[in-house]
Amino acid sequence: MSQLIRVNQTGYSPDLPQYVTVLSDTPIILTDDKGVVLRRFEGVELKPDAASGENVALLELGLSAPGTYCLEAAGQKQRVTVQKEPWRAVTNALIKGLFFQRCGCELKKEFGGPYAHRACHTALAVDWEDNSVSRRITGGWHDAGDYGKYTGPGAVTVGHLLYAWKLFGPGCSDELNIPESGNGVPDILNEARYELEWLLQMQENDGAFHHKLSKARFAPFIMPENDHETEYLMPVSHCATADACACLALASRVYREVDSPFANRMLLAALRAWEWLQKHPDFVPFRNPEGVSTGWYGDRSDTDERFWAACELFAATHEERFRQDAEVLFKSGQNLTRFGWSDVGGMGALCCLFDLKEEAGSVLYDQMKADFLSQSREALRLSRNSGYGTALAPERYVWGSILPILSNAMAMILCCLLTGQEDMRHAALMQWHYALGMNALDKCFVTGFGENRVIYPHHRPSGADGIDEPVPGLISGGPNKCFPYPSTRQTLGEDVPPAKYYLDETPSADTNEIAIYWNSPAVFVGAYFNMLTQNISGRKD
Ligand SMILES: [Zn+2]
Repeated sequence: MSQLIRVNQTGYSPDLPQYVTVLSDTPIILTDDKGVVLRRFEGVELKPDAASGENVALLELGLSAPGTYCLEAAGQKQRVTVQKEPWRAVTNALIKGLFFQRCGCELKKEFGGPYAHRACHTALAVDWEDNSVSRRITGGWHDAGDYGKYTGPGAVTVGHLLYAWKLFGPGCSDELNIPESGNGVPDILNEARYELEWLLQMQENDGAFHHKLSKARFAPFIMPENDHETEYLMPVSHCATADACACLALASRVYREVDSPFANRMLLAALRAWEWLQKHPDFVPFRNPEGVSTGWYGDRSDTDERFWAACELFAATHEERFRQDAEVLFKSGQNLTRFGWSDVGGMGALCCLFDLKEEAGSVLYDQMKADFLSQSREALRLSRNSGYGTALAPERYVWGSILPILSNAMAMILCCLLTGQEDMRHAALMQWHYALGMNALDKCFVTGFGENRVIYPHHRPSGADGIDEPVPGLISGGPNKCFPYPSTRQTLGEDVPPAKYYLDETPSADTNEIAIYWNSPAVFVGAYFNMLTQNISGRKD
């Protein structure tokens, strides 16, 4: 029988609404750990939830004291925990999850525990377009379930982490236990730097950035240190160059205080990237060269990437020319509430509305703020239309549906920061609850967490290491009915609703892969709520 009550399996805070979803209109009984009845929810009105095909109701438990509680519906019981800082461990794990993606270094036992492994991908990289050229490029994170390293997605991931740290520093755990821990720099910045050092090596002398460093084909399910196929430096691309430009300009501001030569190196690289973009104004979409079948990460336009880059360069240099370019790109129309790897307009909004503020000027602050607030209402509307409060339209359960859900959570959090609107914060919280178990699959999507957890992510080390539990702290892409594999369609058929179109099976990259740029928005959202539970008014300015 399916579970009638779906909860955030990592627990709830006594200071924030404790939403749960119920699928039963019989009385719901809430008891404490001694069996004392605290509350009966009678006459619960179920409403249809289009994405899951279920009739559900959202309840708010209203518990003010930490403890272990029990919810009972139609004889079925569900444990609920309320505790101080319930999401400290999972936020920490989501950041540490990136450490487990490190390439080119040994993951030592003292940091990686049972998931330790020898150094991987240390051979020279060969230029795809001129095989006589090879280069030593080290470091970076494996992108996802595969061992490729992709410039744009990596840059966006770092962008999420750096803004999480800037806005919600106290919510970003500093207990990662990584090799750099204790060096006086916050751990989240130590981890992000591992990717930044790699990113810098992806630049050509003319300022352009290579799109990716990957094999021609995906490796089989082997450990990374056993993957000896040649890694190729694939051609440069507009989007990779603009994303790297933005990320490095942002990072130059963040790391200025901890290491100013490093900050200068990044700003210089960003300026050279911008110069290349100016010399190459006509967008050319990246295509996999013939014979290459690793991640494509294609895009239809680079105006949002250029927009983010111009905003960050203005913030980093205060030079008027960048502000003017950012204004032109803003006026060309930007999705200010999108934070994914292909649509980075929201990253530019983060820069203008939360860092530059009034300095951005009336267009990039006042007008953008009005546009941002108006666009973010769509996320709230989606959440309200869903029985689970999930901010995703039923027909938009795409490959990696966790990304638009978390991206909408980010938009609603930022809206709340700008306006103080509590309904935005509460709707954002529902997305966090979704990720951690309050969903139609009753599944906690972060590996290593929850009673009903992901066990078989599409992740090569987790599949090849011989350990039952997958590498912890990785978030699954989740249900995908828009672009499923034929094998998934064969297993699930046509009638399974979108929010349940999911298989916890290793081969199912279409529904159960992990990716660094899904972890990073989860870090952003987790750091915010983690910070709130430490101190409800603890916003760091
Ligand atoms: Zn590697």
